[in-house]
Amino acid sequence: MTVPWLDSHAHLDDPDEPPERVDASLRQLVAAGWPGALTAGYGPERFVRSREIATAWPVVRRAVGLHPEYLARLPDETARQHALKALRSELDHPTVGALGEIGLDRRYKDVWPLDEQLAYLELGLQEAKARRLPVVLHIVGWYGHALDMLRRVGVPHGGAVHRWSGPVELVPAFEALGLGIAVALEPRENPEKRHALVRAISADKLLLETDWPFLELSYAEAVVQMSHLGTQLAAWRGEAVETLHIRLAENARRLYHLAP
Ligand SMILES: [Zn+2]
Repeated sequence: MTVPWLDSHAHLDDPDEPPERVDASLRQLVAAGWPGALTAGYGPERFVRSREIATAWPVVRRAVGLHPEYLARLPDETARQHALKALRSELDHPTVGALGEIGLDRRYKDVWPLDEQLAYLELGLQEAKARRLPVVLHIVGWYGHALDMLRRVGVPHGGAVHRWSGPVELVPAFEALGLGIAVALEPRENPEKRHALVRAISADKLLLETDWPFLELSYAEAVVQMSHLGTQLAAWRGEAVETLHIRLAENARRLYHLAP
């Protein structure tokens, strides 16, 4: 295998994935000279496993957060407050390098309304600011609402919008806040839309991610497929593959404050 690309967003702590299978993939990738990944947070139930991975694998950096989908599925405000308390104490752990996922998801508007989602996004952004952490943003629909909140609270320590699915026209506004924009290994993505997006993102803000797990791929297989997508991106942008490979790893390190 040629050197696989850095993965700026995956869920290596997913409870449905047997740890042995994840470890086997990480062993294989590290042996191939892989620059690593950021494993993103979902909810407190995954803290222990994510801690374990970040401790055992120095190439994997760790974010913790409260995913809007996770919060939407909790029964009530008391449960959400408990989750927030758990998050705050986990943020003290030295393996944590970023805060997220946090964000807005319009698909859950009927069970968890916009104003409540905005309130939790704001809490997350304030916490990131206070702790000088970059953020991992999940935004589905509601890109305008997210932008207003981000402008109001600020993201002084950067971060990125993972798996961008918003209008291409809004890319510059998010970039102006210092945020990276990630293109995901998403087989359902419309190729023309992806092409336009890839060309709209600035050279120093572009990120690539698997957002694994999905489909029937092992983690190592997903990283290999994402690396093929990287080659495609280089062609679309008219850049040399090797140059883009190096720059995307640098972008992730800078935007998520990962050590080299
Ligand atoms: Zn994710």
